[in-house]
Amino acid sequence: MKTLKYLQGYPTHLTDQVEQLINKDQLAPLLLKRYPQTHDIKTEKALYDYVINIKNQYLKKSAPISKVAYDNKINVIHHALGLHSFVSRVQGGKLKAKHEIRVASVFKKGPEAFLRMIVVHELAHLREKEHNKAFYQLCCHMEPNYHQLEFDMRLYLTQLDKFGEIYQG
Ligand SMILES: [Zn+2]
Repeated sequence: MKTLKYLQGYPTHLTDQVEQLINKDQLAPLLLKRYPQTHDIKTEKALYDYVINIKNQYLKKSAPISKVAYDNKINVIHHALGLHSFVSRVQGGKLKAKHEIRVASVFKKGPEAFLRMIVVHELAHLREKEHNKAFYQLCCHMEPNYHQLEFDMRLYLTQLDKFGEIYQG
């Protein structure tokens, strides 16, 4: 079973452990134990407020965000879990920059920790376009547990893909 598509790029000692969890039917129990609660950020207004709150805490001086949305067209398989788009256009003789953040709608449901990880990732792109060292330092500044959360979020996507939902509502 070398098909852990959400965990590509992780070392084999980790992916081997994940395969063992799957073989022993322990993936869902582990996720539910670690993340028993789901969040309540269901509307675009709630998501917008959530994102702005984190931005104001850590990136107050970065460019404003014009739109935040859940997007069911984001294909989580092909790398993207959220999207950050930067549109600049000339309006009334001035260059206006518009930042939009879109979060894959799979994260509308489930633990807040995974939503937070995605939001932190997309917010970090306000400063760093590339996935470089500075980018991940900024992610970890906003969320010290960033790398663990990203790994666990990928475990969650693996669970959803192979076995289905584990959270109600
Ligand atoms: Zn990115």
